[in-house]
Amino acid sequence: MIPLADPGAAYRAQRDALDDALGRALDSGWYILGGEGAAFEREFAAWLGLPRAVGCANGTDALVLILRGMGIGPGMTVCTVSHTAVATVAAIEMVGATPLLLDIDPDTYTMDADELAAVLEDPPPGLPPVRAVIAVHLYGQACDLRPMLAACEAAGIPLIEDCAQAHGATLDGRKLGTLGAAAAFSLYPTKNLGALGDAGILATADEALAERIAAIRQYGWKSRYISDMVGVNSRLDELQAAVLRVRLPLLEGMNARRNAIAEAYDAALAGTSLAPPARRAGTTHVFHQYVVRSAERDAMASMLKELGVGTGIHYPVPVHLQPAYLNRVALGPAGCSETEVASREVLSLPMFPELTDEQVARVCTALRQVAG
Ligand SMILES: *Cc1c(COP(=O)(O)O)cnc(C)c1O
Repeated sequence: MIPLADPGAAYRAQRDALDDALGRALDSGWYILGGEGAAFEREFAAWLGLPRAVGCANGTDALVLILRGMGIGPGMTVCTVSHTAVATVAAIEMVGATPLLLDIDPDTYTMDADELAAVLEDPPPGLPPVRAVIAVHLYGQACDLRPMLAACEAAGIPLIEDCAQAHGATLDGRKLGTLGAAAAFSLYPTKNLGALGDAGILATADEALAERIAAIRQYGWKSRYISDMVGVNSRLDELQAAVLRVRLPLLEGMNARRNAIAEAYDAALAGTSLAPPARRAGTTHVFHQYVVRSAERDAMASMLKELGVGTGIHYPVPVHLQPAYLNRVALGPAGCSETEVASREVLSLPMFPELTDEQVARVCTALRQVAG
């Protein structure tokens, strides 16, 4: 079976470099917030073109730390989408704020920028004031960021970029993560830049915010054992940082390989009943996922499985319909109907840089067979 993702293949392809880096970190005798973590933060910030990056335990915490650093909490609403990893919405509730979930544009599966503008101009009654927006760059391409930034600026609130699926993607030639007030990146093993365990990092041009967050991630310490503010424990460990330092210079090549695979899938789908994923004008896509949609999604997934092709669904149930959130979270005026249709129709195809040309060809043949 050709899997949807294969973090083990990535490890095997980079085994010597990763084993060296892990050995170096192990030999150092310092395992939390040491030289590897500090170097990775500098290298990641430089790669992004921002002054500061702060490592943390995972991508969810990266969002939480940004929200906490900005002072967002109880009595405040944060807008995002329901068509995302549940982590985006969980982070909002983890700081005590109220999520407001907006619908998506059905072609790109990202936030409906018009609905956002409408909600910021005329907030839904009965909710605390909207104090931030989390923009999710889903599947590896930018959401409709320009009008969303304009709407946030007009409302005087920060836009936070959830870049967990968009490491290295660009909009108008600028890397995602550099356009909003701050950006959160998950470094989970299957992400475009992934560790060999949990890891996350956040970045911002606001150095005072970065300084505050660096303290919050370690008990609110500015100096050892003295909490200047209330903090948490969310640190990036040295082993993961050493792995990530090996992989960051490889990211561009890995994203190029994802794009080459996407082009092969595009070509295979030409003339079939399935449309290739839409690319937003002015963006480069990094294909965290290659997503097609079909009203016959479940049948198509079983046929592909029979042909030895694994698939995934991102995401099968919108956050607002999951048991923990059902009838409890607020929806925007559009009511998330496009989100609900998308959740029944989206299908993610195998996508990771170590897919061989032969495996890609097998996926293409299977696609033509099932999509006619
Ligand atoms: C993976 C992901 C997260 C959460 O990251 P973790 O490292 O798993 O905590 C948040 N948002 C999106 C869009 C993601 O894909």
